[in-house]
Amino acid sequence: MERYFASVKEGVASLSEESAHHLRDVMRGRSGETIEIVSEGKVYEAMIASVKPLKITIQKEIETASELPRHLILAFSLLKGGHDELVLMKGTELGVGAFAPFVSSRTIIRLEKGEGEKRRSRYEKIVIGAAEQSKRTMIPEVNPIRNYRDILEIKADHRYLAYEGKSLGSFELRGMFSSLGKEETVLAVVGPEGGFSGEEADLARAKGFEEISLGKRILRAETASLYLASVFAFLSEGGK
Ligand code: SAH
Repeated sequence: MERYFASVKEGVASLSEESAHHLRDVMRGRSGETIEIVSEGKVYEAMIASVKPLKITIQKEIETASELPRHLILAFSLLKGGHDELVLMKGTELGVGAFAPFVSSRTIIRLEKGEGEKRRSRYEKIVIGAAEQSKRTMIPEVNPIRNYRDILEIKADHRYLAYEGKSLGSFELRGMFSSLGKEETVLAVVGPEGGFSGEEADLARAKGFEEISLGKRILRAETASLYLASVFAFLSEGGK
């Protein structure tokens, strides 16, 4: 069933203009059809009462639990070739709680003035679409694009830097993630195409970040983010 994020008031759901366009013109929704509406973490069965004007009435709340018991804040560098968009889309499907895009010394993409907000609003659209498609009950937050140094100030119960300079071959992700308590927040920072400079790694260390290896191979930045998100989801949902 198609799922849309909306605000719900007095039994009626209001969709954003984009979602309304998607429902009407892309999915060709007809009156009488049933859809799912997600609002403030709750999922409802709803009916398209009319298409023009669009009116959606809530029928009942339905049980669903699609969120991970822990919160992953994934900090990733802007990437060339739309690879950052891939991280947002696939990361959302995998259950990432929030995205923190950043620019570090080796980030290839440089933003002109005013481009940051445009980019972020594109990121937000991608995340909403992916959250609806993957039947999430929350839309992951997309933080403003920041400098690497500011990312190191984000608060979390555990803070990790994915660093390939770290003893390649050790594989301690399982131990780290599976020892986390319920509902804890984890910040994981993944570098750009060219990785982190030695100074950047030192800075994170000085701020109390733990370095983690993602295995024996060097992964592309987008693969590293999605691998990390996958392992996090697997271990958070009780995988062994
Ligand atoms: N410096 C490297 C590649 C960077 S890979 C080079 O150019 O050869 C991009 C990012 O992915 C890294 O900054 C790191 O955060 C993450 N990453 C990739 N493979 C990793 C691994 N095996 N362990 C930990 N992090 C990894």
